[in-house]
Amino acid sequence: MATQSLYRRYRPRRFSEIRGQEHVVRSLRNAVINQREGQGYLFSGPRGTGKTSSARILAKVLNCTNSVDGEPCCECPSCLAVEAGTSYDVHELDAASNNGVDAMRDLIEKASLGTPGRHKVYILDEVHMLSKGAEAALLKTLEEPPPHVVFVLATTDPQKVSATIRSRVQHLEFHLLPMDELEQHVRWVAADAGLTVSDEAFQAVLAQGGGSARDTLSALELVAAGGGEVPETLSYDEFIEAFIAHDPGQALAALAHAVQQGRDPRTLAQDIVRHLRDCFLSLMAPELVQLPDQRAGVVADQAQRMGAAAIVRSMEKLGEILVEMRHAPDPRLLLDVALVQLTHEAAGSDLGAILSRLERLEQTVAKGATTSAPRPAPVDPNTGRAALGGRALTTEPVPRAAPAPAAVAPAAVVPTAAAPPAPLTRAPAPPAPVGADAVVAAAAAPPAGSGTAITAASIAAVWQPVILPTLKPMARALFSAGHFQGERNDALVFGLPNETHRTRCEQYRADVERAIEAHFGSKVQLVLVLDSSPSRDDAPSQTTSPRTSDPGASTPGSAQTASGAQSEPDEDIDMDDLTDAPPESVLSPLDRLAQAFPGSKLIDEQR
Ligand SMILES: [Zn+2]
Repeated sequence: MATQSLYRRYRPRRFSEIRGQEHVVRSLRNAVINQREGQGYLFSGPRGTGKTSSARILAKVLNCTNSVDGEPCCECPSCLAVEAGTSYDVHELDAASNNGVDAMRDLIEKASLGTPGRHKVYILDEVHMLSKGAEAALLKTLEEPPPHVVFVLATTDPQKVSATIRSRVQHLEFHLLPMDELEQHVRWVAADAGLTVSDEAFQAVLAQGGGSARDTLSALELVAAGGGEVPETLSYDEFIEAFIAHDPGQALAALAHAVQQGRDPRTLAQDIVRHLRDCFLSLMAPELVQLPDQRAGVVADQAQRMGAAAIVRSMEKLGEILVEMRHAPDPRLLLDVALVQLTHEAAGSDLGAILSRLERLEQTVAKGATTSAPRPAPVDPNTGRAALGGRALTTEPVPRAAPAPAAVAPAAVVPTAAAPPAPLTRAPAPPAPVGADAVVAAAAAPPAGSGTAITAASIAAVWQPVILPTLKPMARALFSAGHFQGERNDALVFGLPNETHRTRCEQYRADVERAIEAHFGSKVQLVLVLDSSPSRDDAPSQTTSPRTSDPGASTPGSAQTASGAQSEPDEDIDMDDLTDAPPESVLSPLDRLAQAFPGSKLIDEQR
């Protein structure tokens, strides 16, 4: 005898057994208890979330002779008949295969006939597949249904159901199950069915199910059939690793393997996109990743190594070919080409390819700042030659003069070969010192035998190119708007444009003090004051670009523009929303006009 599938065997029989759809269940049960059930429902949601099961339970309870508290008894002849699919009161129609107007007319004709039970329930699955004519026929009945008839329309795609139909039914939305709830359920089913499944296999099953109870149980069934171990399923990791390694050969081999296993290129592309989406989410909003913890960790690591730009580009590219594949005589060829383009960057000349190359370059440079791998000596940006002593610094560890390893700035670590290897999960690195700045940082290394007094002048020289980039983005943005004014009672006086700004900066004062201490090796105290210098009208928009290699850029007035326009800093701006302004914003509107119209000049300032 053939065994019943797990999904059918453990299909919910009562509302209380439906998982993760409390909002729907509550609404339906209350309607039944108060005898106010609607005549038309639209159940929408992803596949395998309990739409049809809920519809059947509703049909059962509406015809049950001893329903209690809005639940069917599951024992009376009516309940048993519905469960067996032999009830005259419940009609199921799959709109995907019976989408014509005739099937709908036939159904509607029957609707007006009497039935043995109190209610006649029509369950129309995949209702968005109905033809226009069938939909019109259904609409007519939905407008004035016979009193004993209840329509339950189910769909995975509510947007495709016409607005007129949606307006005549109660729309209930089913959701994918939260991972922990699904895991609980699957473990319970496995235990109840007496299946022995390894923990690893459970994780694989959950990842494969992706929040759908039906898909997860089907996956569990496959695993159980294979002896409870993880079956050799296709892993999309191969593709992701190929993207990361920029190895077209690896990607094509993975594709060939998948096709050999009987995978259709189109669904394969869809699955890769889904996997990429998980990677993307784990970078942007990790809380939205619907994966078991262990798997989520793997995906997060892949995402970090691949980089957002490359992920987005791959998703876009695969999304494009998914559309083309529909009409392509050989969809595999399209996928082949796309994989090569995505792995072999030189083959892609679009902006996305260039962006992801740039991002990779940045990552490599940032990584170079913390790994001990041998690499070429830093290059002096002015001469284009290797910086003096650069090679020597990379081969032998140089003890740092300053005894403050806690707040060591990435730039300051460059020369040490003893630095620990980069951890796998890096925080999104701030676009801090790279390339030329690293050299500046090395050049402006702290004075040996530190402990000498730090003056406003000595700090101004390294403030912009060295210390500012080591600050966290918020502190960097806030403090880049001010400048050192002098010393007062062993403290350094730092001027800021207005009181709000000054108060905000106070929160980060300790961080900045630590950063200065890390550089000079001796403690320093900052006093934040309102800027007394009259020549800094445009100071807040001053750029903090780490590319600035001129230490003088931080001196007052250097960012000043020729304009006499007064712009009071806006007090209402939420500083959290601010980011570093692009360099061109230093220009005043007048300057921009002058740039756009060379030779023009301001005639009348009033008009
Ligand atoms: Zn019953």
